[in-house]
Amino acid sequence: MTKKWVYLFSEGNKDMRDLLGGKGANLAEMTNAGLPVPPGFTITTEACNAYFEAGKKFPEGMWEQTLEALKKVEEQTGKKFGDPKNPLLVSVRSGARVSMPGMMDTVLNVGLNPKTLQGLAKLMNNERFVWDAYRRLIQMFGNIVKGIDRHKFEAILDEYKAKTEGGKDTDLTTDMLKDIVRDFKALYKEELGEDFPDDPYQQLREAIAAVFDSWFGAPAVSYREAEGIPHDWGTAVNIVTMVFGNMGWDSGTGVAFTRNPATGEKKVWGEYLLNAQGEDVVAGIRTPHPIEDMAKELPEQYEEFLKICERLERHYRDMQDVEFTIERGKLWMLQTRTGKRTAAAAVKIAVDMVKEGLITREEALMRITPDQVDQFLHPRFDPEAVQKAKDEGRLLAVGLNASPGAASGIAIFDADTAEERGKAGEAVILVRPETNPDDVHGMVEAKGILTQHGGMTSHAAVVARGWGKPCVAGCEAIKIDLAARKFSVNGREIKEGDYISIDGATGEVFEGAIATIDASFEEEHDLVTLLSWADEVRKLGVWANADNPEDATRARAFGAEGIGLCRTEHMFFDQEGEEISRRDNVVKMIMAETDEERQKYLDRLLPFQRKDFEGIFRAMDGCPVIIRLIDPPMHEFLPPREELIEEVTRLRCTNADPEELAEKEKMLRVVESLWEANPMMGLRGCRAGIMYKGLTEMQTRAIIEAACNVAKEGVDVHPEIMIPLTSHINELHVEREKLEKVAKEVIAEKGVHVDYKFGTMIEVPRAAITADEIAKYADFFSFGTNDLTQMTFGISRDDAEGKFLLDYVERKILPNNPFEVLDRDGVGVLMKMCVEKGRATKPDLEIGICGEHGGEPSSVEFCHIIGLNYVSCSPFRVPIARLAAAQAALQHEYGRK
Ligand code: PEP
Ligand code: MG
Repeated sequence: MTKKWVYLFSEGNKDMRDLLGGKGANLAEMTNAGLPVPPGFTITTEACNAYFEAGKKFPEGMWEQTLEALKKVEEQTGKKFGDPKNPLLVSVRSGARVSMPGMMDTVLNVGLNPKTLQGLAKLMNNERFVWDAYRRLIQMFGNIVKGIDRHKFEAILDEYKAKTEGGKDTDLTTDMLKDIVRDFKALYKEELGEDFPDDPYQQLREAIAAVFDSWFGAPAVSYREAEGIPHDWGTAVNIVTMVFGNMGWDSGTGVAFTRNPATGEKKVWGEYLLNAQGEDVVAGIRTPHPIEDMAKELPEQYEEFLKICERLERHYRDMQDVEFTIERGKLWMLQTRTGKRTAAAAVKIAVDMVKEGLITREEALMRITPDQVDQFLHPRFDPEAVQKAKDEGRLLAVGLNASPGAASGIAIFDADTAEERGKAGEAVILVRPETNPDDVHGMVEAKGILTQHGGMTSHAAVVARGWGKPCVAGCEAIKIDLAARKFSVNGREIKEGDYISIDGATGEVFEGAIATIDASFEEEHDLVTLLSWADEVRKLGVWANADNPEDATRARAFGAEGIGLCRTEHMFFDQEGEEISRRDNVVKMIMAETDEERQKYLDRLLPFQRKDFEGIFRAMDGCPVIIRLIDPPMHEFLPPREELIEEVTRLRCTNADPEELAEKEKMLRVVESLWEANPMMGLRGCRAGIMYKGLTEMQTRAIIEAACNVAKEGVDVHPEIMIPLTSHINELHVEREKLEKVAKEVIAEKGVHVDYKFGTMIEVPRAAITADEIAKYADFFSFGTNDLTQMTFGISRDDAEGKFLLDYVERKILPNNPFEVLDRDGVGVLMKMCVEKGRATKPDLEIGICGEHGGEPSSVEFCHIIGLNYVSCSPFRVPIARLAAAQAALQHEYGRK
C-alpha cells in the first residue's frame, strides 16, 4: 500500500499541524466543527519532503490520491473540475507547520480555460468577472509557477488601464480583459516557448509543484533562518474550492482578530471590503472598512461571523486571526490561526480568559513569554499613535525585534555625531549597517539603534539588550548610504536629522516621531494579577541585586523577596552631597604604611558604609539582605599607572612642587606594586579581605552596627554577610572566624540581638568541587555565575565579548553567549555537584544565584531543576524571573536528582 499523502479536510484535525501544516490542520478542524469552510483537501508536508528527496518528483501515489480527493470535492460541491458547464475552480495554497507570512506561493482560479470560462460566465451571468479571473490565473501561474517577471504582466495591464478613464483594474472592460488575456498568453509563449496550459489537470499539477518549490525559495529560506525554523519541515499544499468575494455588493472579503491584537480588548477587530478579493485588501487598491461597518452593510452575515468568532475562541481557547469571504451572501471561513499580539494584549487576553473560565491560571502563565513581561517594563509606543502612523503609511520596514523598548529620534549615521548630538540633548537613533565596538560611544548616547544587517546576537543586539535600549537589527529593507548620510526604503528617503521611530519589541521602523508611554508596573493590573498567580506556583524565591535603597525599593515594588547581592564597591567612591571624600580615605587606606595608619582611614570610612546599609535594611524591612564584602582588586581605587607616570614626569621636569612629586611617586610605587598580569585572578575577593588588615572587619562592623541600629527602630532586619571568591576552605575559615568575632562584639556593644548569617559566593570551580568542605563554614552559598562562567570557560568576559565571543555565537561554535544564558553542560554541572555536596554536609543550606543569569529565563529554569532556593537579578528583571520561575515549576520537578 502506498503512503497516505492526501487528507480531505474531514479527515484532519488541529493536532495534525506537523503533517497538514497550520492552515490545513485548522481548515480541517473548522470543517469538523461544522463551520462553513469551502470543501478541499491537504497534501502533506511529508509529500513535500518526499518530492525533494526524489529530485522534485511527486512521490508514488500522491497524484492519484490528489485526483481521488478532487473527486470527493466534486461530489461535495456538485461541480466538476474542467467541466465546461459547471466547472470547479480551486486555489492551491502553501501552509507550513508555523505561519511564514507571505513567504511562499499561492495560485488562485486553477481550472479556468476558454471552455470552463464560458460555462462559468453563463452560470454567474457575469462575463467580465470570469475574464478577470482568467487573466489573474495566467498572471499568477506565469509568475509563480513559471518564474516570468511579474512586471512584464503589470506593464501590459498598465497599458490597458491607461486607456480607461479611472485608470484602475476595476475600470477595465470585458473586451479589454479579453485583449489582456490574449497579450498575456503571447507573453507567456514568448518567454517560455510553449503555450499557456489550458488543461486544468496540468495547471493543478504544476501549481502543486510550484508551491512545493517555494519552500526552498529565497524568501522562505531566509525567513526560516531568521526564525530558527528547520528546513526539513516542508510545506503542505491546500487545494480549496474557490469562493469569490468580488461577485457583487452582496459579496466581500476580510481579515479579523477575535480580540484586539494591540490592546487585548474583547471585541472583534479587523477590516473588510465589499465586492473584492483578498489580494485587493492586501494590495491596498481600495481602503478597507472597519469590521463593525459590516453590521450595517451585511447584518445577517455579520451576526453569523461574530458567532463564528466566538465559537472559534471557545474551541481553540485562544484569540484567533481569521480570513473570510462572502460569496453572494454566503459566508465562508478560509483560515483561522492563533493571532499574533502585543505583550500588553497577550497579558490582558490571558487574564481575561481565566476570568471567563476559558483557560486555567496555569495555562495563562504558560501563554506569556518572559520577553513579553520584559516589554512591559520599558517605555513603549502608545498603541493608538502606532495605529495612526500605520494608517498614514508611515511604517517604513520591519526588522528583527532585537531589544525591547520604543524610541523616537533623529536618524544619525555615525557614532561620533550620535555622541555629539546626544550629549547636546537631542534624541538620536543611531542607524548603522552593523555596529562594532568602535560605535559604542555613539550607542551610549543614542535612544535606540537600528541596523541594516546582523541577527539577534549581532553586536548591536547584544549591547542594546544589555543596556535595556531599544534595537531593531537586520532590517534589510533599509538601504543605507553612509557617504550620503541617508537610507532609502520602498522608494522613500530618510536623511540625517529626519525623525524616525523604532519599536524594539516588534521590529517596526516608522517615519516621524511616535508618542511613547512609560511603564508603570503598579498600574499594569493584569500583569500584576498574572504575576501573583506565578507567585503561587513557583518554588524558587525571587530576590534582587541592589546596592542602594532606591534600587532596593524598586525591586520590592517589582516583587523581590530579598536582596541576593548588595555590592559594596561603590561605597568606596564619592557620593553626591558628602563633604568628606570617601575616595581620598580609600586611597590613603591603601597607601598606609602601618596598621594604625590604615585603621585611621578605615574608621573614617565606617560611618558612610553604616549609613548606606541602614538605608537598605529599612527598605527591605522583613526580608533577607545579602551584603557582599569588598571584591575588586585594590588598584581599581587608585589612578591608572599611565596617568601617574605622566604626572610624575611632568612634576620632575617642571620642578614645581616637590611635595606633590613625592606624593605621586609614592602612589606610583604602590600602583606598580599592585600591578597584576591577570587582576581578575589576582588579589581580589576574599584574598583582599585576608591580606588587607582591618578592611572586611570594618565592613562587618558597619553592617552589624547598621543592623542593630535599625532593629532598635523596629525594623525586622536579616543581614547575611557574603565572602566573595572563595576557592579553598581555609580562606573561608579564617575570614569567617575573624569576622564573626567582630559581629559578636558589635552585638554585645549594642545590646540588641540580630540574627546574621555568614556565607560565601561560589565563583571558582574549586569551590564548587569542594562544596562539602566549604559548607562547613558557610550558612549559605550564592552562585556568582559571572565569575564562575569566566573561570570555567577560561574566558575573560570583558575582553571576549568585544572580540570573539559574539562571532563564536554567530558561527554556532557556542550555542549562546554563556554570560547571558547559563551553560548547563559545563557551569551547570559544577553547580549541580555543588548543590549536592553542599547539602550533603548541611541539608538545609540556603543556595541561590546572583550572577546575571539569575534574571534569564532558561537559566532560571535550570536553577529550579537543580533545586536552588532563590534567584537574584537586577530589579527590572524581577517580574521576568517571577514568571520564568512559575513556568519552570509548571514544567519540571523541583530539585530533580
Ligand atoms: C558573579 O561573579 O557572578 C557576581 C555576581 O559577582 P561580580 O559580577 O560582581 O563579579
Ligand atoms: Mg564575581
